Amino acid sequence: MSAPKKKSPYGYRWQKAREAFLAKYPLCAEHARLGQTVVATVVDHVEPHRGCMKLFWDRDNWQSLCKQCHDVHKQRFEKSGRVSGCDEFGNPIDPTHHWNNPGGRGG
Ligand SMILES: [Zn+2]
Repeated sequence: MSAPKKKSPYGYRWQKAREAFLAKYPLCAEHARLGQTVVATVVDHVEPHRGCMKLFWDRDNWQSLCKQCHDVHKQRFEKSGRVSGCDEFGNPIDPTHHWNNPGGRGG
């Protein structure tokens, strides 16, 4: 059984880089700003890479976050502004875009 091939940068190389980054910066950056010490479990892109490999691999654009802060970060994007732009396949990145909700709201 082989996993389906996905054209995504989040592969093995990312997993290793992510582990190394978390080992180097083990604490949540958002909580650190509040003077709180929380173990980070997620590496987040400060500026959304939008399929741009330069931004994706730019460690200056990475931050360690705990899951809670990561979710808040993402929700802020979803609530406060639409995500503009397209991914490498030409699909809208905005998760609220109707292209990403083919089934509508039924159910
Ligand atoms: Zn946090």
